[in-house]
Amino acid sequence: MSDTFKAILVSRDAEKKQSVEIVDLTEADLMEGDVTVAVEATTVNYKDGLAITGKAPVVRRWPLVPGIDFAGTVISSSHADWRKGDKVILNGWGVGETHYGAYAGRARVKGDWLVPLPDGMSPHDAMAVGTAGYTAMLAVMALERHGIVPDRGPVVVTGAAGGVGSVAISILSTLGYHVVASTGRNAESPYLIDLGAAEVISRDELSQPAKPLGKERWAGGVDSVGTHTLANVLSMTSYGGAIAACGLAGGMDLPTSVAPFILRGVSLLGIDSVMAPKPVRLEAWRRIGADLDLKKLSTLSRAIGFDGIIGAARDIVDGKIRGRVVVDM
Ligand code: NDP
Repeated sequence: MSDTFKAILVSRDAEKKQSVEIVDLTEADLMEGDVTVAVEATTVNYKDGLAITGKAPVVRRWPLVPGIDFAGTVISSSHADWRKGDKVILNGWGVGETHYGAYAGRARVKGDWLVPLPDGMSPHDAMAVGTAGYTAMLAVMALERHGIVPDRGPVVVTGAAGGVGSVAISILSTLGYHVVASTGRNAESPYLIDLGAAEVISRDELSQPAKPLGKERWAGGVDSVGTHTLANVLSMTSYGGAIAACGLAGGMDLPTSVAPFILRGVSLLGIDSVMAPKPVRLEAWRRIGADLDLKKLSTLSRAIGFDGIIGAARDIVDGKIRGRVVVDM
């Protein structure tokens, strides 16, 4: 008889009403793939919150095991790059959306989707970074490619106390940038300063409808919020600057004008972590290993067990989670 393991399963009934339960699965229940991994750590991302609560159509196959990222050890592999015992990380590729995901003791995926766990990092550390942190690194790399180096001026990080925001602040400050952190939770100022923010501003400063152009306040930025916040961030970006757009925690619209683009040469850099090609992922994880202070990682993350996932998923869509939540399986 095969070993069973616990998994979270989201299902939909004939009226399309969504439910979530904890079930026992065996390896025979997993979807196709050429590598089977024992999941040792995972995390709760905003997208996982949307998948579990059903607040946005993240799940596109029913029923589904959610969970968009994990770190663990290969149990079996028919893929040329991976052998039993290898330590691996998975982010995205539709896992936890169309393919059974991380919230199970085991996951079967395509070997092409996996990257090696960086030296010196545990599965727990990798998931303290998680998809949010890897996305923050992609955003920083995009700013660098655009020439936004620390000497160009301050950089703004919106949704600062969230996962993407916290890791972005940590990386940018370690690299020497003057970081302006925008948060709706003023009580989190000491936490943000601890991570490396040089200034903390209230999210209210950026949440009203934006003027076409505002006072030039920053050379670059990492935005997780979208909508009026991103529009204001763009209108306050200095000549030739660039903003990396990662998220939609405030909304999916972008009520802006072309003024920042055509009058100040500002660029809007799109960041997608889900389908990012493997060389970009390998570089992002290499940079995380090099540029992210592991001590700060422990400040910005807290650990929960498997049984805490559903509660944390509800909290993250309500904007109640600070930094990153790591699930030790
Ligand atoms: P979190 O929930 O951890 O952080 C989001 C933060 O946004 C919150 O902590 C809060 O920060 C702020 N926020 C929440 N609601 C609002 C609101 N209504 N108005 C203004 N600010 C708000 O999520 P993550 O950091 O994990 O993800 C952030 C965003 O990035 C999400 O939209 C997610 O889907 C997206 N994302 C995109 C990826 C990609 O590939 N492009 C990959 C990973 C994430 P504070 O309290 O400090 O104001």
